[in-house]
Amino acid sequence: FTRIHQMIEPHVADRPEAIALVDTDGTAVNWRGYATLIDEGADLFARNGVEPGDRVLVVAENCLAVAVAVMAASRLNAWAVPVNARMSADEIARIAAHAEPRLTLYTSHVSKEAATHAEAAGASLVETGFGAVHLAATESGAGEPVEEGNGQVAVILYTTGTTGDPKGVMLTHGNLIFAAHASRDLRDLTAADHVYGALPLTHVFGMASMLMASALTGCTVELARRFSAEALYQALGRGATVVPAVPQMHALLMSYAAENGHARLGSDRLRYVSSGAAPLDPAWKRKAEAFYGLPLQNGYGMTETTAGVSGTRNAIGDPDISVGPPLPGVEILLDKSVGNEPGVGEVQTRGPHIMKGYFRNPEATAQAITSDGFMRTGDLGRIDAEGRLHIVGRSKELIIRGGFNVYPPEVEAALNDHPAVVQCAVIGRTVQGDEEVLAFCQITSPGAATTEELADYVASRLTGYKRPSRILIVDALPAAATGKILKHRLLTHFAGRLG
Ligand code: ATP
Ligand code: MG
Repeated sequence: FTRIHQMIEPHVADRPEAIALVDTDGTAVNWRGYATLIDEGADLFARNGVEPGDRVLVVAENCLAVAVAVMAASRLNAWAVPVNARMSADEIARIAAHAEPRLTLYTSHVSKEAATHAEAAGASLVETGFGAVHLAATESGAGEPVEEGNGQVAVILYTTGTTGDPKGVMLTHGNLIFAAHASRDLRDLTAADHVYGALPLTHVFGMASMLMASALTGCTVELARRFSAEALYQALGRGATVVPAVPQMHALLMSYAAENGHARLGSDRLRYVSSGAAPLDPAWKRKAEAFYGLPLQNGYGMTETTAGVSGTRNAIGDPDISVGPPLPGVEILLDKSVGNEPGVGEVQTRGPHIMKGYFRNPEATAQAITSDGFMRTGDLGRIDAEGRLHIVGRSKELIIRGGFNVYPPEVEAALNDHPAVVQCAVIGRTVQGDEEVLAFCQITSPGAATTEELADYVASRLTGYKRPSRILIVDALPAAATGKILKHRLLTHFAGRLG
């Protein structure tokens, strides 16, 4: 395959009636129907002035229209730029100013947020086979040079924005086709699989493990507009076989199951559950495995690496919290000049999964990718005797307190182990030349735990310098559409309470 939309052609030819996608309203679309809608989408885009090298911004929550738009852009050799409709008008405006789309599509039919953005943009309603979406054409969109072959950009995906403003990552057709194969092979996906799709398609993990993997293998993806523990629980009951998710989604399902007295999942169809995109907490892993009756596999990657760098193939109950060996075709090494602890270094990775670069930011690209093609991930890791990678934290988030290293995921794990903690985030804050450790905890219900109880709890598990200087119990943590916590916002978000 040279371009991503070509991956579905064999299914259209061989199994036209098999179900490709289940839309958020329950409508099932088969491969022939999907192909027809992609044709319709490409025609619609072309009629609205989209040419090769142009960007098509897709302001979206999960639905069929996103899948169609990404593939239709590929048909035209244009670039899809999916962004989540749950971002603020400001954030979307910044991305639009950077991406300069020729056309913007809003999935207003499934998303109140997308409808609000469409209205503000004066977009017009278009009835299509993939829903009544809104479109806004712009004069500004300057086309980028078009390349033949799979080095052509297919999508720009913006990073989560955990450590700062989101960065626009150019992923090529080759990157995405490689990720589709990697995802298939890691999960042993076949056409018989039914993937439950709660990850946002606007994030690299959903794009790779849902859209691209299904396009390659011909399996079904059931799209969820956004994550709900109850909806996931029901989908499992209906026979979902594969569930890729971020760790927070598994944690929320565990809370839901506990509240509703479901000790164990009652389905024997589920065969693969995975966690990725953020650190997997040992307590969550343990609880999730007890519930699913399956190992919770841990995959590591980033937007810049088209998701997959490494992934585990653990057996159930394996206490190992590594992110596994590198995926086939992927190289990893540790740059020991970063970090200050023996055996730990910055993870660097090279292979067909590495992005083309940051859009319109050659300086940042040059900083991120070494002259010999290794991506500097900014993550600190170590490699164990079996060749498995362990992520110990991000270099930007490493807290150095009184000369000692504090890795936030370790402190978070101690807190998450407390039965009243739903999720938490730990960051450092500089005070008088040193760093203090701040913990923000979301608890199961008001009064389920006091800060003193949580402090005592972690004190029994962590040595002195790792213990939080302060614990704040909060109602909710600022999060991206995936559920990942936006750590760089914590200090301003809770400024009033921190003093
Ligand atoms: P930004 O780059 O904008 O600050 P981000 O890095 O969170 O945001 P993503 O590309 O969504 O944006 O996330 C990639 C990062 O997520 C990785 O660099 C790593 O820190 C973290 N990560 C991903 N998978 C795992 C995992 N399995 N275990 C631990 N950390 C993970
Ligand atoms: Mg990043």
